[in-house]
Amino acid sequence: MPAPVRPGVFVGARLLDGLSPDAIADGILVTDDQGRIAAAGPAARTAAPGDVDRIDLTGLTVLPGIVDCHVHLAMRLEPVHDQAQRSATDLVVRALQTGREFLEAGVTTVRDAGYTPAGIKRAFASGAFPGPRTQVSCQPLSQTGGHGDDWTPSGMVVMTEMSDLPSGIADGVDAVRRAARLQIRAGADWIKVMATGGVLSAADTPDASQFTIDEIRAIVEEARAAGIKGTLAHAEGTAGIKNALRAGISSIEHGDLIDDEGIDLMLERDVPLVPTFSINFTLMDAGRVARGEVPPWAVEKMKYLFEHQQGSFRHAVERGVRVVMGTDSFNGMYPPAELAYMAEFGLGPHRAIQAATIEGARLLGLADQIGSLEVGKQADLIAVSGDPLAEPELWRDPARIVFVVQGGRVVADRRGA
Ligand SMILES: [Zn+2]
Repeated sequence: MPAPVRPGVFVGARLLDGLSPDAIADGILVTDDQGRIAAAGPAARTAAPGDVDRIDLTGLTVLPGIVDCHVHLAMRLEPVHDQAQRSATDLVVRALQTGREFLEAGVTTVRDAGYTPAGIKRAFASGAFPGPRTQVSCQPLSQTGGHGDDWTPSGMVVMTEMSDLPSGIADGVDAVRRAARLQIRAGADWIKVMATGGVLSAADTPDASQFTIDEIRAIVEEARAAGIKGTLAHAEGTAGIKNALRAGISSIEHGDLIDDEGIDLMLERDVPLVPTFSINFTLMDAGRVARGEVPPWAVEKMKYLFEHQQGSFRHAVERGVRVVMGTDSFNGMYPPAELAYMAEFGLGPHRAIQAATIEGARLLGLADQIGSLEVGKQADLIAVSGDPLAEPELWRDPARIVFVVQGGRVVADRRGA
């Protein structure tokens, strides 16, 4: 079990609180014995207790811990003959490893967007295994032949069965209600809906809309009735994005082919966009294609989407759509790079930080607990070398995030490495 939380005082760093674009040049941040922020401000005006651990972060910039609202902790990209060898135990072990790696990279909170059982969330919350604060979706809901249907013409279905990942394949209003209830019974905080086709599904296209509005509406109703966090839609094509929005979805994932009418709906309903640029580059990576991890037809779909997404994302940002960071990261990916992508593709460095901190916290219903460096919130923070406002590219370099704290506990310290 982890050691008890000790109060600390972090000195010498610039503070970026996640809210203001102006950094505090010589800041102090004090944490209490409950792992919360007791004080944060300029050294000249912030009292620091003398009898606590003193951590020198001179030359670093301190920010809130990263919130990634679209990950898949149990997944990995690998050739199908390797996937077929994975047992449920292997996937659980992988999810625990990936959670630890993401946490040590600075990701202190995640929303898992599918294929991770609720037991993983409980393992991290217990403190027995280091990992992000985690909310799960269990098994995504998909229509027959949809983005979440792993059937292949050979009859082979590569899907690892777990008692707490009930099937999400359903058709018709009554059946999708039951599928949603099965996920909720298994501990889902969110219901993930496949509202369009996708890149890695062989039998559909990203333009195809999946589920009817009535089906999605029934799923949204079940989530609301149960009082879980909400619903998220895998939505790439124009029509499916709008179906999901009209049905009352809580967030749009990817959103590559969104048009002005879709943007109108997002603004009207105050629904955030979770763009997931990281997965684009992962799926277009020539090495992964050469190793058989990504089929060539998927690369073609990805290129088509990304060509459109660069324009549609910038346009959505200009029109005022709220953006939340999500990466579609799984084992072997590096979520913080998404901040560099968001900054580059239209959000700019400061709003990218907000998307990765306070906006994520808002979407997850945790804005009173995390997402900014404010007194009373959990001390989830990272320290990076350099100024991420002047140099957002630093988010691509794992060597630049040198210090990670979660709930007042130091979980990574690479100062001097
Ligand atoms: Zn995903």
